[in-house]
Amino acid sequence: CGIVGYTGFQDAYEVVINGLRRLEYRGYDSAGIVLEQGSTFDVAKTKGKVEDLVGISKNLVGKSHVGMGHTRWATHGVPSDRNSHPHLSNNGKIAIVHNGIIENYDTIKIMLTEKGFVFHSETDTEVLVNLIQYLMDINADIDFPTAVRYALNEVYGAYAITVMHSDFPGVLVVARLGSPLAIGLGNKEYFIASDASPFVEFTKEAVYLEEGHMATISLENGVDIRNIKDNVKIIPEVQQLKL
Ligand code: GLU
Repeated sequence: CGIVGYTGFQDAYEVVINGLRRLEYRGYDSAGIVLEQGSTFDVAKTKGKVEDLVGISKNLVGKSHVGMGHTRWATHGVPSDRNSHPHLSNNGKIAIVHNGIIENYDTIKIMLTEKGFVFHSETDTEVLVNLIQYLMDINADIDFPTAVRYALNEVYGAYAITVMHSDFPGVLVVARLGSPLAIGLGNKEYFIASDASPFVEFTKEAVYLEEGHMATISLENGVDIRNIKDNVKIIPEVQQLKL
């Protein structure tokens, strides 16, 4: 399973798809991609191989400079098109890709269902993206990264996630607890991946996100790393890749 994300000047579709190909060795049963498209998202996802995803998504070539992709190893819900990532929140504004398990998804799902949320998959992941939406719905004054941080403080389990919000164009929020995530620092571009192999051809500088940390990434403001628990700012340690 794996995650790839990109914001920069290149075609996000090409970077994400080629990155997913490099992560295939990790094993997976489904693949998907989401690209920022004005104030909405373009989504393609399918059970099967990355090449199956390419087969249904060629129309997305050259359409965006911001996006993310996922290869899934199903833990909650069978491998199917519907359970494939990315998952969108009910209002369609938030997209998530996730590797790992949200252990307490069932109690949160009951709470959100009582609030009127509907679910289109059996995954634990779809619960997390709707929890982020719910927290923004009820707290008009919190921004997108803060909502992700609040949501992560309500869940336990293991995760590497990347999240996008259509009202916050060009912003990728990533977090890590128990699953790896690396950030590639390019010149006017940033990469996200489960390991450095998807971006090593583009940059030799990387930050490996540490346990319990999250990062808000944009061309405007760079990489802002925080402790998920208390929001304390973290000074990143930049690694020089020797690959
Ligand atoms: N638990 C999530 C799911 O079943 C993510 C699985 C993964 O790590 O790919 O969809």
